[in-house]
Amino acid sequence: RLALADAHKGEPAVTRDGHRVEVCANLGDSAATAKAMAQGAEGVGLLRTEFIFMAHPQAPDLATQEAEYRRVFDALDGRPLVARTLDVGGDKPLPYWPVPEEENPFLGVRGVRLTLQRPHLMETQLRALMRASDGRPLRIMFPMVGSIDEWRQSRDLALRVAEEIPQADLQLGIMVEVPSAALIAPALAREVDFFSVGTNDLTQYTLAIDRGHPTLSAQADGLHPAVLQLIDLTVRAAHAQGKWVGVCGELAGDPLAVPLLVGLGVDELSLSASGIAEIKARVREFSLASARELAQSALALDSAAAVRELAERF
Ligand code: PEP
Ligand code: MG
Repeated sequence: RLALADAHKGEPAVTRDGHRVEVCANLGDSAATAKAMAQGAEGVGLLRTEFIFMAHPQAPDLATQEAEYRRVFDALDGRPLVARTLDVGGDKPLPYWPVPEEENPFLGVRGVRLTLQRPHLMETQLRALMRASDGRPLRIMFPMVGSIDEWRQSRDLALRVAEEIPQADLQLGIMVEVPSAALIAPALAREVDFFSVGTNDLTQYTLAIDRGHPTLSAQADGLHPAVLQLIDLTVRAAHAQGKWVGVCGELAGDPLAVPLLVGLGVDELSLSASGIAEIKARVREFSLASARELAQSALALDSAAAVRELAERF
């Protein structure tokens, strides 16, 4: 079965009734881009830029960052790059960025909250991305956005840089990984170009379970109907405004979850490159119509276990 999936990794993922789902790669390393494309990726759906920062003993300057992003674009050969601005703080501090001690780092200054406190660093990163794009498709997304103000402040910074470095194909969006962002998705959808659902953090914050907790993390299941409800809200809000939605959390790489996500209307799945052939093959096994029915049934259930049971039977 896997050998068959592998033979078709270079072909698009189309459901039995002709609905195409984009399948992209999550990357943390610019050098891994070419390999991801060879594994069937149709673009980079999440570039975790913090790994590029972590690989340097101090914050990489404009030229260093530009060279890294250029490598990704070059290997992509015209396919889109969804780059996430620096997502550090809380549990993943950068050694050269002292963050204040916090009692609850997951609820503290992390993601966009941190970069908005240091707009200069954010601007350098945006400038490096826009210089590297050279007219190629660039999608920039901001992590951990929980309010319209955080989105607007981030967008305004990006627009200022884009004025200075004109972009032929730029989209600006946010990660939906804080429940408040999903709940105000109708308002955000009027202003963003796209959403990308980060199910790892969205699950953690919705279920109030630390995603890395030694004994509880197994219960942090993104197939919990509460999480599915938030994804449903997000997709409906986006599609009402003609915007697209990706999922870049681990759920996108779970074959059991794929028909549910596609059935909820998710347009793009982004996952670790090694799983792309299998996830594309999974999409080809069902019809959009049946996936929609499945998703509607799942939304009405009361536990992750019940959703998993339903999805197993599908
Ligand atoms: C997520 O939260 O689902 C996500 C994709 O981001 P990260 O795992 O890097 O926090
Ligand atoms: Mg996250």
